[in-house]
Amino acid sequence: MKEEIDFSRIYSFSKLNMYRNCPKQYYFNYLDPEIAPRKKEFIKPRDYKTKGQAVHGAITLFYHLPKEERSFNNLKSCLFSAWFSETDISKEPPIGESGGFNNIEHERKTYKESLILLKNFFELKDINPHLFLIPTKDIRNSFSDYKDMIQPVNEEISVSGKFDRIDELENGSLRIIDFKTSMNNQDCSQLEFYKLLAELNFDRKVDIVSFYYLSSKKIQNFDVSKVYKDEIKNNFLGVINKIRSGNNFYPRRTRFCSHCDFMEICPVFKKS
Ligand code: SF4
Repeated sequence: MKEEIDFSRIYSFSKLNMYRNCPKQYYFNYLDPEIAPRKKEFIKPRDYKTKGQAVHGAITLFYHLPKEERSFNNLKSCLFSAWFSETDISKEPPIGESGGFNNIEHERKTYKESLILLKNFFELKDINPHLFLIPTKDIRNSFSDYKDMIQPVNEEISVSGKFDRIDELENGSLRIIDFKTSMNNQDCSQLEFYKLLAELNFDRKVDIVSFYYLSSKKIQNFDVSKVYKDEIKNNFLGVINKIRSGNNFYPRRTRFCSHCDFMEICPVFKKS
C-alpha cells in the first residue's frame, strides 16, 4: 500500500522562509484551495534554479565517486549528468525553455557559469572529507532525501529538509555543510534549523555549520555547539503556530517579487 505523507504538517526551512519573505506567496503555494492544488501551472522554470540544482547535483555525484576518481575532469562529467530540468527530468541537454533558457546561447552561458562554480569548489581542496551523509545519487528522483529526514517535533508537527553534506568530526560530533551558488548573506535561522534537523535525525551533536560560497571560494564556519535543540525547536514552533493560526497571509512586496511565480495573480500587481 502506498504510504501517505501529510505534507501540511511537515515544515522545511525553505517553507518557513517563504512565509517569512511573503505570507501571501506561502498562502498561494501551500494553502489556497484554488491555487495550491494546481501550483505547477504557475511555477516557471528559472535559469538560476537550473544552475543551482545542477551544481548541487554535480557535487553529489562527485562525492559518490571512489576517492581516486575525484578529478576535475570527472567533476565536469558530473555537471553534464546533472544538467536537467526539474519540470522535465527525462530531457537531455540542451534543455532549452524547460530549464528557463531563452535560447542556446543563454543555456551555454549558464552552463559555463556553473562550471566556474565547480572549478571554485574543486580549488577549495575539500574533495575527500570524512563524509557522514550525502544526498542520494539518484539526483533526478531525490525525494527520499527529504522523506528520510522527516522527524516529529510534537504530536502534530514534523520538520524535514535536505542536507548538502554532513561530515563526522574527530570527536564524533557532526559538521553540516551547505553549498551556496549565490552570494546571499548567511542566515542564522537556517543554520539553526539544520542543526535541529540533524540532531533529531542522528542523535548526535552538531558542533559546526558551514556555508561554502562557491562564487567567491569563501567558507564561513559557525560554532553552534552552545545553541540548544529545544531552544531552536521552540523558536520555529512559534513561526509554525503563527502560520497555523491561519490569518496572517498578507502580501509583502519586496525586490524578490520579480522572482515570484504568483505575481500575475498577486493582489499587489494584479491588473483590475
Ligand atoms: S508578488 Fe510579491 S507580494 Fe505578491 S505574492 Fe509574490 S512575493 Fe508576495
